[in-house]
Amino acid sequence: MPDIDHDLTVLAQRLRKIVGEEGVHESEPLSEHTTFEIGGPAALYVMPDDPEEVRDCLAVCREADVPVFVLGAGSNLLVSDDGFDGVVIALAHDLMDVSLDGREMTCQAGVSLKEASEMACEMALSGLEFACGIPGTVGGACYMNAGAYGGCMADVLKEVRVIRADGTFATLGVDELDLGYRHSRIADEGMVVVSATFALAKGSRGDIRDKMDELTAQREEKQPLELPSAGSTFKRPEGYFAGKLISDAGLKGYRVGGAAVSSKHAGFVVNVGGATCADVKALIAHVQDTVEEQFGVRLEPEVRFLG
Ligand SMILES: Cc1cc2nc3c(=O)[nH]c(=O)nc-3n(C[C@H](O)[C@H](O)[C@H](O)COP(=O)(O)OP(=O)(O)OC[C@H]3O[C@@H](n4cnc5c(N)ncnc54)[C@H](O)[C@@H]3O)c2cc1C
Repeated sequence: MPDIDHDLTVLAQRLRKIVGEEGVHESEPLSEHTTFEIGGPAALYVMPDDPEEVRDCLAVCREADVPVFVLGAGSNLLVSDDGFDGVVIALAHDLMDVSLDGREMTCQAGVSLKEASEMACEMALSGLEFACGIPGTVGGACYMNAGAYGGCMADVLKEVRVIRADGTFATLGVDELDLGYRHSRIADEGMVVVSATFALAKGSRGDIRDKMDELTAQREEKQPLELPSAGSTFKRPEGYFAGKLISDAGLKGYRVGGAAVSSKHAGFVVNVGGATCADVKALIAHVQDTVEEQFGVRLEPEVRFLG
């Protein structure tokens, strides 16, 4: 039988050679790195500084045949209570560079959408207003083709720089990304985004700010931002709204342990205190079954599962 502890120690040493002593944590609780505040430990949690370090960490893990998960802000993620027996490569700590070239803005994967949209506003560049309240990173948003209020990443992206599954860098134009509703080729082919370039339009700083303020006010009014969650739990089924179906099924406020269907917005499952992954999964299954029984529509989770 392989000695897993020994193998992990060796792997941790190899990863530390790439990212430095401080850049690798063992048994890191993922509840501290997800907006749901749920999830057991990652065997190894690695924080690379730049795209080359990301590539080298991926290569070492591939060689060791250890499962890898690339983490952004953890805002669309439900992690198992048992954690993840592999390596989490966390990009929201250090891949934070932003550069401007005329109307094009390039952000490394760890930059938050909030920062990216604030920066664009500051420079009087329009296009990222829709993204100001999405609590993810640029990398996670490309992977998910995140969107809100009629806009999505596909509308503003020019190109992304990725590490492909074979470990090589590539720059892919937006038309090569097969971006659809919460879908991308990045996800299909297991690519890792290291940076993204947005093609923005010249605008008025005041108008951009007004739009961002308006969208923020709408979110604050409609969404349970005061409680931990992963945003909309389910994808929008064609021809329906998940929140309305759940509300019409009488499930607003329905609870399993510490997880509840938000009474403010039925499309959100929230952590009302001490929720486990098992609670959320049981709640999701109950919502899916009840909605299907009543309306014949099977809701599909938008939230990604890990572990
Ligand atoms: C309160 C709230 C409101 C939200 N509102 C919206 C909304 O309006 N619209 C919307 O679309 N989403 C929304 N979300 C969901 C979430 O913010 C988005 O899906 C976001 O794009 C996820 O980004 P992340 O960095 O948090 O990714 P994570 O949750 O860390 O990861 C999500 C997936 O992306 C992958 N990933 C992350 N970074 C990379 C990378 N660099 N390269 C390759 N893969 C990567 C991960 O492996 C994982 O599979 C909301 C969430 C919350 C909590």
